[in-house]
Amino acid sequence: MNLTVRGLDARYGSTRVLHDVSCEVPDGTMVAMIGANGAGKTTLLKCIAGLHRPDRGEVTLGGTPVAGLAAHQVARRGLCLVPAGRQLFGELTVEENLLVGLHGTGVHGAAVARRLDAAYALFPILREFAGRQSGLMSGGQQQMLAIARALVREPEVLLLDEPSLGIAPLLVTEILGVLRRLASEGVTILLAEQNAAAALAIADYGVVMENGTITRTDTAAALLADEDVSRHYLGTS
Ligand code: ATP
Repeated sequence: MNLTVRGLDARYGSTRVLHDVSCEVPDGTMVAMIGANGAGKTTLLKCIAGLHRPDRGEVTLGGTPVAGLAAHQVARRGLCLVPAGRQLFGELTVEENLLVGLHGTGVHGAAVARRLDAAYALFPILREFAGRQSGLMSGGQQQMLAIARALVREPEVLLLDEPSLGIAPLLVTEILGVLRRLASEGVTILLAEQNAAAALAIADYGVVMENGTITRTDTAAALLADEDVSRHYLGTS
């Protein structure tokens, strides 16, 4: 399902944070959104997901306008946000967290087991730790759980906020590999990442956010090869 953002402005109180942001994530592709700390990536994801109300602009999902809808209404249209910091219920088990993900979806009976199985197939360690308290797992495993909790809802559009933050490199590779696979299976993915090299390496397209505006949009390969992007975001020259 296509995701488009047109002319979005947003602020916190009197501070304007997003200025005329436009971008598009074509159906079944992955777009990496890169940019420095504080550039506005999280705010854009929140505006799309209905967690922050933009002042102006349009967000469409599969051509239908969703800007201004509440988060649960946007979620019902097939969009899930995996927030930064994971926000799991640390005292609940892995499986209980996945069941929380299904809350309000109306999925029940044998379908619940099928949804959990599909998530466990993508992240086998979660099946192994299904009965374990989630707060006791490593950061990378918790990130897998946060993604799996979104996936049990079978979203058509998945937004992820910094999934690689504070995670061991090997698990980052595994997580990004799963995202790549999901996109190839038709899930539309917008991935906000400060780990620009890793994100652009697996994405189809990239957008660069600077000071609340999108300053570059191109294929991920072109951005990876770009000297300016390299110097500012990839830690190379
Ligand atoms: P990060 O990688 O640090 O999450 P980001 O690119 O996601 O950065 P945002 O979190 O969207 O950026 O923040 C954009 C700007 O808005 C920053 O200047 C930030 O300080 C400010 N900001 C974010 N949340 C709030 C808030 N709740 N109230 C006031 N200002 C905020």
